[in-house]
Amino acid sequence: MATNDMTAPARMLLKEIFGYSEFRGRQAEIIDHVVNGGHCLVLMPTGGGKSLCYQIPALLRNGIGIVISPLIALMENQVAALHKQGVRAAYLNSALVPEAAAAVERKMLAGEYDLVYVAPERLLTARFHALLQRIPIALFAIDEAHCVSQWGHDFRPEYGKLSVLPEKFPQVPRIALTASADARTRADILRCLDLREARAFISSFDRPNLCYRITARSNSRMQLLNFIRSQHAGESGIVYCQSRKKAEDTAAWLNLHSIPALAYHAGMETAVRTLHQKKFLLEKSTVMVATSAFGLGIDKPDIRFVAHLDLPKSIESYYQETGRAGRDGLPANAWMVYGPGDIIRLRSQAGTEQIPAPIRQAAAARLEALLALCETTDCRRKPLLGYFGESTGNQPCGNCDTCLETIPVRDATIAAQKALSCVYRTGQCFGTEYLIDILTGKQTDRIRQWQHDRISTFGIGQELSTEGWRIIFRHLLALGYLNAGEDRAGGERITLQLTPAARNVLRAETRITIRLLPRHQTPYPENSASLPTSLAPDACESELNNNLLAT
Ligand code: ADP
Ligand code: ZN
Repeated sequence: MATNDMTAPARMLLKEIFGYSEFRGRQAEIIDHVVNGGHCLVLMPTGGGKSLCYQIPALLRNGIGIVISPLIALMENQVAALHKQGVRAAYLNSALVPEAAAAVERKMLAGEYDLVYVAPERLLTARFHALLQRIPIALFAIDEAHCVSQWGHDFRPEYGKLSVLPEKFPQVPRIALTASADARTRADILRCLDLREARAFISSFDRPNLCYRITARSNSRMQLLNFIRSQHAGESGIVYCQSRKKAEDTAAWLNLHSIPALAYHAGMETAVRTLHQKKFLLEKSTVMVATSAFGLGIDKPDIRFVAHLDLPKSIESYYQETGRAGRDGLPANAWMVYGPGDIIRLRSQAGTEQIPAPIRQAAAARLEALLALCETTDCRRKPLLGYFGESTGNQPCGNCDTCLETIPVRDATIAAQKALSCVYRTGQCFGTEYLIDILTGKQTDRIRQWQHDRISTFGIGQELSTEGWRIIFRHLLALGYLNAGEDRAGGERITLQLTPAARNVLRAETRITIRLLPRHQTPYPENSASLPTSLAPDACESELNNNLLAT
């Protein structure tokens, strides 16, 4: 297909309808691609400007742009904003009375819209299908496309059924947009929407103006107060808490200490909640203390900090929530405290028996990645951006706590070598807890059954506690020396495999350091035992070279 240069007409719309003089990031490329009939995946951080990527092509192409969106409130906001700009747009969702929905459908047939936002369940009805068959469609934009994935945290079964789009309307450009997709979720989107051959436009997720700081919790309220007083007096910020009660108590407590604060959570009366949101948006120096219910669609440019008093449930949530700070591009802080209590809470949430095994596994893997971000001794941006498949090229960012300050660390290379050897010696088909049992020399039935009490790594790790070994495994996973896979035997556990980089650790060419956790019993004795000769890097080396790391 010969492509037409749509730059000039797209630029004109950008200016005249949306009032902007320049495209941002990859917007121009994406718009050009879609206007010319191409399918694509657009991965762009929140606030990056995804909407224009389908709105402008919908205006330039013949027919109606159909936007699939999971959130009624966002749909309504978008349509209201478009109306202000003079764009002919409407939405169809369960909030509309049948007469109003019928009127929208009539106008669609009459060609009176450029954009129609639809809830996914509506798109799947036979009636709506029949309607779509009768009108020209400019494109399908699948917003929040990560909802197709069971592995993601926002799985929506109706989204999973959007595979009808490529089947029924193969010629209509499909543009899938999301701000949150790890590698697995991304693969699900490509499969479900048949975009494997399509172009992917992946923007950097880095927010250079955000300074990330994560510290161990001691007295979190005092820590928060000191943080706000010393760095953000008179400024606007969000404090995220896990529970509604904690959000309310913390807001009240901040007010007592002369920091103007409001609470926000889903359990509050709508009128109060809306009032608090409005005040926060308008006022220059109000702190919003909220649960994760707060934030969707919040576009306040001068939020100077986002503080977490509890760990969010995943790196994605952390990234989304911290991403609300510093939208104006000026320096802003992402500050968090965490402690063992968070780990226990999140582990128990992830492990509830009612949840199907694959989803539980995915949740566990997400949790491990989050903990690794907390505990890294390296630049925070490495695991953070790494989670979104982006490399920092090993360059320290210079704008996170680990880059800015010296942190107490301890060398754990020998322990790491023992752990990696144990994974290797047991055939790379077991999970962390079992491997720890072997390292610490537990005589369990399962170990005897597999005769793993006879291998060289049995009992060589007695110098560390179980928790100490968990930290080692977490680090190895986080830093990419181990991969978590599904149990090949169809069991419910995550199993660990070595990656090519593991060889460097076994050869002691890469040293592993771990953060010393304050207020914990340190998992390390002062003098770590040295590696037994049977496990010395050389003993594994040839085998590793031959069988294992050839990929
Ligand atoms: P996303 O959906 O990626 O979170 P939006 O499409 O809502 O982001 O855009 C975020 C903000 O950026 C909006 O206020 C939008 O008007 C603004 N914006 C988008 N594109 C541009 C641009 N080219 N120039 C200036 N502002 C833009
Ligand atoms: Zn850094």
